[in-house]
Amino acid sequence: MAIREVREIGDEILTKKCKEVTRMTLRTKILIGDMLETMYDKCGVGLAAPQVGILKRIVVIDVGEGPIVLINPEITESSGEQTGEEGCLSVPGKWGLVTRPEHVKVRALDQEMQPIEVEGEGLLARALCHEIDHLSGELYVNKTEDGLHDVTYEEDEEGSDETEE
Ligand code: ZN
Repeated sequence: MAIREVREIGDEILTKKCKEVTRMTLRTKILIGDMLETMYDKCGVGLAAPQVGILKRIVVIDVGEGPIVLINPEITESSGEQTGEEGCLSVPGKWGLVTRPEHVKVRALDQEMQPIEVEGEGLLARALCHEIDHLSGELYVNKTEDGLHDVTYEEDEEGSDETEE
């Protein structure tokens, strides 16, 4: 596995639509391993393939409950509403307030290309929405309530609980 370069806002690859994954290849398996390693290295809670420059419908998420790998994910149900801080590894040093569903259900394929369903609420629901948006070339910066803010660290940087996706 290897850590890949994370593309940043302004890079046009982040605005493009991703292609469906039709079969699992060694290359795709390596990509998924690299995406997980890159997400953990950058302390993110999620990463989408276009963020490492690959236009495939693949996302990885870990909100502290173990890794989730989703191929060709689609939101099939959403309910409720939550407004909270959101960040993105492709928009370093910034955050914004975004309203998302409180609860979502997602249909996808796992790494063996078998159908799976994932349900999330709270942070997981937010991460699922955020990452799946990346696959349509959408960034959270266009959904913020009052624009972007600079991340400011208190004296104790270790204590920061900012999450980036
Ligand atoms: Zn993001």
